[in-house]
Amino acid sequence: MLLEGKVAIVTGASRGIGKAIAQQFIAQGAAVAFTYRSSAEAAEALEKELTANGGTAKGFQSDAASMTDAERLVQEVVDTLGTVDIVINNAGITDDTLLMRMSEDQWDRVININLKSCFNLTKAVLRTMLKARSGSIVNISSVVGVQGNAGQANYAASKAGILGFTKSVALELGSRNIRCNAIAPGFIETEMTAKLDPDTVQGWRDAIPLKRGGSPEDVANLCVFLASDMSSYITGQTLCVDGGMITA
Ligand code: NAP
Repeated sequence: MLLEGKVAIVTGASRGIGKAIAQQFIAQGAAVAFTYRSSAEAAEALEKELTANGGTAKGFQSDAASMTDAERLVQEVVDTLGTVDIVINNAGITDDTLLMRMSEDQWDRVININLKSCFNLTKAVLRTMLKARSGSIVNISSVVGVQGNAGQANYAASKAGILGFTKSVALELGSRNIRCNAIAPGFIETEMTAKLDPDTVQGWRDAIPLKRGGSPEDVANLCVFLASDMSSYITGQTLCVDGGMITA
């Protein structure tokens, strides 16, 4: 029970990686507040699942791109669960196209949901963590933020921005015992990738040194570690969960 007694907020947990993080956090004893934007049914089902064995969990409809929503979310979590020890900024989208065809709206939406979201929730939770003189913030970036990717200029910029933000937060708040780290997943197989052409997906697997795509649990395991006191001397880092795809 690495997270016993801790309160966590996980954004974008109605499916995929965020859902696995919420599940692992409950298994490790944390109380979990998770968010979604539109998947109310999936969120309700997850809340039921997480609380089935006596776990404490609650889903919140909260737009990660909105500062007002972030402030309201933190207030509600503090009111109901007492504090916030852990924040996992996971909510994210892609809207891929070549730069030639990318609209201003496509740029703004991806930057706001992927990058501004980290600013929103980190800022909103700051007072609570400063008061507690402790906290762990984990921002979900991507190998694409480290390396760039053709056709994903908006996504890559948002994920690279997360890395600079993470390092700055770590430097600013280290003296208050608030840690901030980034995770850069590689190719993680989710419901979304299950719908892609099997040959294309196999090609991606073959190009990875460990010869498989990652699972949401692979990312969630690192979140547990970074959220827990096991990583109490680690801050400002970017850790890749990518089967060896990049070795930067
Ligand atoms: P996913 O399956 O598409 O799930 C995204 C989650 O984020 C959903 O729960 C969605 O909720 C939520 N979300 C989207 N926009 C939101 C908003 N504005 N406010 C609140 N929640 C919002 O994504 P995933 O593959 O699990 O990816 C999770 C994170 O890992 C993302 O940041 C992604 O960039 C990163 N990542 C993924 C991979 C990969 O291979 N899968 C690789 C590298 C990095 P709704 O359904 O309600 O919209």
